[in-house]
Amino acid sequence: MQTFQIRRADSADAAIRGAAAAKTAQQGADIRFLAGGTTLLDLMKLNVETPKQLIDIKRLPLDKIETLPDGALRIGATVKNADLANDERVQRDYPVLSQALLSGASAQLRNMATTGGNLLQRTRCLYFRDTGMACNKRDPGSGCAAIGGFSRNLAILGVSDQCIATNPSDMNVALMALDATIHIKGATGERAVPIADFFLLPGKTPDKETVMQPGDLITHVTLPAPAKGERSLYLKLRDRASYEFALASAAVVMTMDGDKIGKVAFAMGGIGVRPWRDKTVEAKLTGQSPDRDAFRSAAEAFLKDARPQEGNAFKVELARRCLVHTLETAAKLA
Ligand code: SF4
Repeated sequence: MQTFQIRRADSADAAIRGAAAAKTAQQGADIRFLAGGTTLLDLMKLNVETPKQLIDIKRLPLDKIETLPDGALRIGATVKNADLANDERVQRDYPVLSQALLSGASAQLRNMATTGGNLLQRTRCLYFRDTGMACNKRDPGSGCAAIGGFSRNLAILGVSDQCIATNPSDMNVALMALDATIHIKGATGERAVPIADFFLLPGKTPDKETVMQPGDLITHVTLPAPAKGERSLYLKLRDRASYEFALASAAVVMTMDGDKIGKVAFAMGGIGVRPWRDKTVEAKLTGQSPDRDAFRSAAEAFLKDARPQEGNAFKVELARRCLVHTLETAAKLA
């Protein structure tokens, strides 16, 4: 592990000023914010991340969950994953988010990991975490050892010839289905970014993962008020029942209109370079009967652009079944 400086920020503005001199954006930068540290410190021990300076933001007043006057929920960036999962408003109005959080990591990690950190969680691609291997995300231009290598936990949607890494977060999948908005404060002011625009595709620059700029600080996330009669559900399929990343997961948010599907939003994890959502597929389900044929057609359309490797080709059918089952189950919820 390389030596680094650490200092504590006493305000969001001071933290942003301190980090604005970073040479690159948040991930992989030479100046990094430290909150829970559950990903960052791991990667520093592996020499994958080598910041020269950490700015501790744990004591900033960003740790509240608040209901806003319009019924939306405001979640501070340093709210712990465990506190968010167990918040009674989240469990009542956004069960998909609570379930996704509780399916991730371990109890100890959820007690440390934060909302902002989870949004910026980095891939679990084995080659990314091994500095002896070629990895365009860690070392641009060095190649990608995963293409043609071990790809069981890697992506089949949104991949490029430079990178096929998955976004590992469960929380992000639920936030994508819930149409969350990410609120960012930076050197040039504040902005609100819909989560659909927050994550970048790898393309030819897999080292650039989000729209974050040097000095940007996630301050909070907002969720729209739940629709009347909304039900939601998260299903995660993985190699073991706990403390494991998804091979495929689905977050579904749905309303019914009598015996037909009203509005439905769904996102999948474990299969995409970012939490994957396709609103055109969702729109076609509105007004249909919630039967297996409709959901199977939706899943086929959702996965039509899949580009698997030999080692993760099984994910196409696994994801299809995961999505169909989650949609069927959500439709039957009271
Ligand atoms: Fe690196 Fe992406 Fe290739 Fe993994 S898939 S080795 S993260 S470039």
